[in-house]
Amino acid sequence: MKKLSVLFFSLFMLFFTAYSYAGKKAPVVSSKVINVIIDGESFPGIRIYKMSGQTNYFSVREIAKIYNATLEWKPVSLHVTMHLNNKKIDIKANNAGVIFGKKLKKMSLPSKLIGNEIYIPPEILKSKEFAEITEADTVWNPSSSLLSIKHRANISAVRYFTKPGSTRVLIQLEEPLSYTVSKTSGSVVIKILKGKVQRDFLSVNNGIVKDIFYGTEGRSALVKINLQQTPKLVKILMLSKPYRISVYIKHSKNIDISTKKETVISLPEEYYTAPPEILKEVDLTLPEKYGEAQISEIINDENNKDLEKVPVAKFEDKNIIDDSFAIIDDTAEDVAPKQEKEKGPRYKCKKIIVLDAGHGGEDPGAVGPNGTKEKDINLEIVYELKTIFDNDDNYEIILTRKDDTFIPLAERTNIANECNADLFISVHCNASFDRGVNGFEIYFLSEKATDSEAAATAVLENSVLELERKTGKKSTSLQNVFWSLAITEYINECSELSGFISAETTNRLKIPNKGVKQAGFYVLRGAQMPSVLVESAFISNYAQEAKFSSKKFRVAVADSIYEGVVKYYASKNKKQNNK
Ligand SMILES: [Zn+2]
Repeated sequence: MKKLSVLFFSLFMLFFTAYSYAGKKAPVVSSKVINVIIDGESFPGIRIYKMSGQTNYFSVREIAKIYNATLEWKPVSLHVTMHLNNKKIDIKANNAGVIFGKKLKKMSLPSKLIGNEIYIPPEILKSKEFAEITEADTVWNPSSSLLSIKHRANISAVRYFTKPGSTRVLIQLEEPLSYTVSKTSGSVVIKILKGKVQRDFLSVNNGIVKDIFYGTEGRSALVKINLQQTPKLVKILMLSKPYRISVYIKHSKNIDISTKKETVISLPEEYYTAPPEILKEVDLTLPEKYGEAQISEIINDENNKDLEKVPVAKFEDKNIIDDSFAIIDDTAEDVAPKQEKEKGPRYKCKKIIVLDAGHGGEDPGAVGPNGTKEKDINLEIVYELKTIFDNDDNYEIILTRKDDTFIPLAERTNIANECNADLFISVHCNASFDRGVNGFEIYFLSEKATDSEAAATAVLENSVLELERKTGKKSTSLQNVFWSLAITEYINECSELSGFISAETTNRLKIPNKGVKQAGFYVLRGAQMPSVLVESAFISNYAQEAKFSSKKFRVAVADSIYEGVVKYYASKNKKQNNK
């Protein structure tokens, strides 16, 4: 094979040397070094060649170097093929036609064969076909002799959110990518395999995280989170729809965020000519532990072979939604943190409440004897609730669904986690095979149901999972890794909130108050904030199905929830002030 290549190359040189005499009609008049900036870094030694007739050309060999492409010379047919990203570009000498993949495009100027080199006009680099194959946007500015190349990022944003008890860093991906995590003293480094991101940094300085540097290093992207303080816990997980890596940093003590606004920063468009060098100092082969901090990570099993880190133990959890993901967690046994009191409400900053109208789309929920669908009632109650909350400046409301659409259970809490909500309230109508059963119930999450009735309610509400499985709408999100954590962390808050809401219903709804219960509701599992599920009344009961059709009743349900939330925060505030 080698001999054959040598033979070809010799033939090629011979041929081109011979040809160069014939090609004298289009010689290079002059050439000069240009500035090349690739993803913010300069790339030396590239020239622009001026041909007779004042036209500018690039050398194929130099261009291939810039884009990390390999060249395949075909001397007999006088053309060269650039291979990159599993795609190819065929350039034929002295021909204006260029084949991008399988698509022929005619340029206004032909490529030129001079000596043993093929020269191409800049318009090739500027074409959208070239951009598709190189997965980069190329801009050639002849007046400043600047060629800038920006590789299209598959990491679309790096953001962070600060709460008193935690900082969350979200790395948004355009496609699922596997990653590894390592600890160095004072930092957490996430290496995203095949990740591409424009090099930049975010200055955080919230007392826990100093800053976040990110950029592409070779075939991976690195995100380095520099810490100002040893966190209590660091949890990293991959989420979908959209794909994102969530880095949850639990503070060892609460921080004051009253003067700081939550920050959302997207990647800037500009190039950075003086990129930060700090990423290069990260030694991923020598991770070391810092303090008591722990890291757990979730990786895509399919890409296990790409991982540098050897998993310590497998964390088996039958509740993981998507079995195709493996969870590697060397600290699975003791991730559940000690309970921690969040700071009291600061009415200066709004509480974000996610209201979840249960069911929707092809999942009607329970259906009453007269055909009333639970999904419709839930949405109506949620809208009443939103109207009430919207009149109170202390709250900001986010709905998981605004209309009759199907949303997988896991996605509902995802929405709440994503916006760093303070409360998650799921609104439902209850149902029983016994048409006589009626009344109001409110639930919070527990592995064990309060009683058999509560267990039956949970079974009914979770039954949509079967539909999700059948229709392939099952969420691949892994957010319920936080489940055990959330149960222990927010159990007191959930219980208190449920109590306040339940108490408000007694006089307003004029139906039996069946009280606060616990059961294993799937929809509450992923919530990283206090969450409750309201079963406003039994749609299976004739009288209560009829009540749901009355706006007055729906408003009364909404009022009870609103008043319960207000009293819950007032109580929290009072406790905080008494300390
Ligand atoms: Zn329901």
